[in-house]
This record gives sequence, C-alpha cells and structure tokens, in this order.
Amino acid sequence: MDNTLPSWYEQELVLPYRANIAHAFLLHGNIWDLVSNPDAEDEIDQPYVPFRAFLEKIFDGRDMVIFYNIASGIRFLRPDMEKRFRKIAGLDADDIILKDPIAAAKAELAAKRGIPREPDACLVLIEKVLRGMPGAAVIINSVHFIAPAASGGIAAPLNERANIERLRNWSQDEELRKNKAIILFLVDQAAKVSEELRQSGSEIQTIFIPKPTKEERKLFIQLLTQKSAKPKKLKSPDKAATPRFIVPKNFDANVFAHATQGMGLRQILEILLHSKKTEKPISLEYVKEKKREILNAEYGDVMEIIEPQRGLEDIGGLACVKEFFRNLLDAIRKGEERLVAMGVTLMGPPGTGKTALVEALAKEAGFNFVRTKNIRSMWVGESEARMQKYVYGLRALAPVVVMNDEADLANADRNSPKGDSGVSERLMKMWMELLSDPKIRGQIIVISCTNRPDRLDPALKRSGRSDERILIPMPTCEEVPEIFQVMFKRHAIPTAIADLPAFAKMVEGFSGADLEKIALNAFRFAVERGKKTVDDATLREAIEDFIPSASQLEIDRMTLAGILESSSRRLLPPHTKEIVTAIKARNLVENLAETLEQIRARNIVDIEL
Ligand code: ADP
Repeated sequence: MDNTLPSWYEQELVLPYRANIAHAFLLHGNIWDLVSNPDAEDEIDQPYVPFRAFLEKIFDGRDMVIFYNIASGIRFLRPDMEKRFRKIAGLDADDIILKDPIAAAKAELAAKRGIPREPDACLVLIEKVLRGMPGAAVIINSVHFIAPAASGGIAAPLNERANIERLRNWSQDEELRKNKAIILFLVDQAAKVSEELRQSGSEIQTIFIPKPTKEERKLFIQLLTQKSAKPKKLKSPDKAATPRFIVPKNFDANVFAHATQGMGLRQILEILLHSKKTEKPISLEYVKEKKREILNAEYGDVMEIIEPQRGLEDIGGLACVKEFFRNLLDAIRKGEERLVAMGVTLMGPPGTGKTALVEALAKEAGFNFVRTKNIRSMWVGESEARMQKYVYGLRALAPVVVMNDEADLANADRNSPKGDSGVSERLMKMWMELLSDPKIRGQIIVISCTNRPDRLDPALKRSGRSDERILIPMPTCEEVPEIFQVMFKRHAIPTAIADLPAFAKMVEGFSGADLEKIALNAFRFAVERGKKTVDDATLREAIEDFIPSASQLEIDRMTLAGILESSSRRLLPPHTKEIVTAIKARNLVENLAETLEQIRARNIVDIEL
C-alpha cells in the first residue's frame, strides 16, 4: 500500500529542520484535513488520521510536546509531560514547600488555578520549557489570534507586539536551535498572521498545505469503498464505528475523484457518511450538489461555485467564437497546455452570451466553474486575506474556469483611496503572480467578461496573461433564427412557425437575452390564447410588445470599444465591416469620426470614411 507521508512534510519540514535551516514553521492551508497515517503499517485499520493526530504521531518520540491555543490553553501529549512542564516552568510547589510555607501556599493556589491561558503568560512559560529541556515541540494553533496581521494601519496593542516579537525571536534563537526545539504555528490563512512572522527575516518557514490531489482523493475513495473480503476499516475522526459505504454497481472511483476536485478528504468522508446515514448509494449528482454546498460555504465570500449546465450546442450563432472555444477544448483534451489560453477577455454589449460561453467551456472541459464575487470589496477590509483565499481557492479548485469582470477589478484599483498603504498594488501583484505561474496553464483558465473594455487595466493587458480579447457582438439577422431555435428547445416551447427567418429584421439590435425573453413571452401569449404552440402571430405579438433594455447608443459604444480592443483580426466577427458601417450610419456615438479613424488607421477593418 502506497500510503506515503505528505510531500510537504518531508520536503518542507523535515529537510530544513534536519539541515538546521529552520526550527519554526508556519503551516497554513488545508490544516484540518485527514492525513495519511505515518504508522499505517502497524495500524492497518487506520490509514488516515486527523491532522492533530498526525502531529502527535510525528512528535511521539519527544519528551515534551505542547499544544497551545488561546481557547483551551496549554495541553500536553502525555500526562507525564504536564508534570515536567510545571516543574521546569516553576509552577510546582514541590521544591519550595518545606523552605517557605507562604510561598508554598501561594504556589498551591497557583496550582489550583492551573496553568494560565492568556498568551502573554503562556508564551513565557513555554519559552522557559523550550530553553530548560532539549527536544521540546510546541504547536501553536490559530496563531492569528496571538499574532494577527495589522489591520488598517492601526498600531497593535503593546502586549500583542511583545508576543509577536517573542514568537519571532524564537525562530532566530540559537539556544532553541541547539536544544533541538521545534515550533509549529498553525493557521488556515497565512495572510491573517502578522507580517512580521511571514517576512523572510523572521526565519519562520511558511509551509502551504495543499488540498489533496486527484490521485490522493482517488486512493482515499478506493480505500473507503473497496469490496475486499475483509474490508479495511477507516476510523472517522470521532472514532465512530467503521463506515460501510454503499456504492452503486457502476461506481467509478476515478469519476468520483474528479467530481470532488477542490475538496478535502474529511469533506469527502462526510459525503460518504451522509449516503450511509440516508442509506442511499452515492450518486454523482449528490456529490456535485454537496461539493457546491461545501465549497460555497468555504469560499462563498470570494467566489461562487456553479455547476455548469449548458454546453456549446446551446449557443446560437457566434460560429467563429465557438470555433475558437472548440480549439481550446481540443487542446485541453489533448493535454497540449501550450495551446491553452491562460486568459481570454470577452467584450461586448450585455446579453450577447458571454457568460453562456464561459459556462459552456467549463462544462465541455469537465472543469469546475466559478464566478468571482465582490472583487471590488477585496480592496476593503481584510483585503489581503481575501485575495489570498481567492488565489488558493482557485488553485485548490483547478482545473477550473474562472469568470470575472476585470474591468471592475481595474476600476476598483483606480478608485482606491490614495494612501491605502499599497494594498491595491499588493493585491494586483498577488493576482498577477498567480496568472504568471506557468504551472497553472491549462489548469486555471480565466475568462474576463466586460462591456467596457476601454476600462481594462493597462498593466493587465500588457502582462500577456489575457491571450485573446474577443468581441461578442449583437446577433446578426442570419443568427436570429438559430438563437430562437435554441431558446424554443431550451425551454421546451412547442412551435409552429412557418417562416422564422422572416422575423429577423424585426428584432434587429436585440441581444440573445432579449430573444430569450421574447421566446418565453410568446409562449405565455400562446397559452393565454389557448393555443398549444407558438405560431407566427404570437411570436409577432411578443416581438412588438418587447422593449429592449439597452439603448442603441450604449450598444454602439460598447461594440466600438470591443472592436478597438480586439487582439486578433481572425477572431473579429466576419461582418465587422457591416457593423462599423451601420454604427457610422446611425451616428449616435460621441467622437465617432475619431474612433472610426482609429479603426481605419490601425487597419482593423478596411472602411471608407
Ligand atoms: P452576457 O454575459 O453577454 O451579458 P449571458 O451569457 O448572461 O450574457 O446571456 C443572457 C441570457 O441570454 C442567457 O440565458 C444566455 O443563455 C442567453 N443568450 C444570449 N446570447 C445567446 C446566444 N447567442 N445563444 C444562446 N443563448 C444566448
């Protein structure tokens, strides 16, 4: 059985520790999950253990293992350790009892009160023990309560400052190093912890604990669901009875592992336990629903995880763009990562199917699909922690298609108040760092949708991370019948229309979203008239009744901006020239002559002025 130790443990903890490079570590990320049992060979019924048990095991050989957190105070791995701790920390009355009765009485009182909980007092005691005996291990949990990141430039209280200083000093202390001490700080998000502990000068090594990979999940799932003669048992974290999971006949651990992308082992176990409790076999539908629930609870403040429903066949018209997406999908399927765009920007008026295209891409690629939320508010409050959560979240969810509005992001950047001590800059840097990581190519595909491409951040545009910028224009007359057909099919609307193309002229300047509403209205009108199908008369009535929401001026403005920002002539709509000519004829847009001149001068399309 290849139940190996996690790679971060060997590479990032054991190696630097043995090489005397570091003895203090900040562990962040997936720190509450189940981990492979380091003693799995002897404990074959327990291949995985909770993270805390994992730490207990790896430090088992030490004479002193201290767990501390602000809520429950100091705890020890074994009772004998507590005795020793009290002695070294000077909390015991033993040695003074005969010499000084008053001191003894005081000590007894102190002993009754127990070991203090407040960090100020505890850290002093812990430090005494770290110095007073060799080989002590200290695990400080939720360290951000003791050493929080500075918020909004407000100076930390004095005692907090002292604690931060103390923790930092531990990491640089020669005596502790010689003493073979080891100190772990645990937090779910590193950004919550004081910058001083994270800076390189602090000598605290930061270790990111990733979510399990697909292979790790698959192994876990196989172990839990295999039908061997003597099934291996897995103790759940609370040591409940061995779960026996019901799997459907066609259960495929590989598919299940794929569907649980972004989840921890504990969360997968929860799904299995639930199916056991409800005595229903695990269905893929249930897994997906549960995943959405769990991940939205985890990342809901920064992104929305959506189950993609519709594919490319559900998009009418836009042949050229669909072709681009098909090629992209081809490259993904073939694993040709060099050909997979890192980022694509879809530009154009609202309701033209930009979101629908992104969803289709995610669905057909079998990727997770997320929509970035509140980018703007990432710039306020605990902005760095949120941005970090977002970035780690995307890494955890990979392969993933991300949809966001980068114009919004750039805008927020621009409007950010002066003197936000470089926060916006740091956030933009974190974002760019992710995007320029070659490892994410083919794994994280960022699609930005915007109807104001003229507001895109120049730095983002220059960075080369948005490989293509593509205009998604309003539908043409030729595309209208196809879009209507898609809508009738999508909403299961029965039709008896003699000449669908004849309606195209009537809906000129309407978006795909408008056509969808018209199709639904037509169905409603038909039902109101007691008809079973939408016919020519009801469709005409619905079209005549409909008032589109966007004005032609806005549409023309957005379309022109999209043409100007396009990154490839090949990907321009084939009828761009007609679009520009029509905009020119309407003459609604301000500075039209100038814009047209730009289009001509840059030879985007060949138009006559
Ligand atoms: P955008 O993101 O461009 O503002 P959406 O993709 O959200 O627009 O489209 C709004 C609605 O209109 C969705 O229900 C979408 O499926 C539909 N829609 C728009 N254009 C098309 C199209 N060409 N084919 C199919 N559906 C479309």
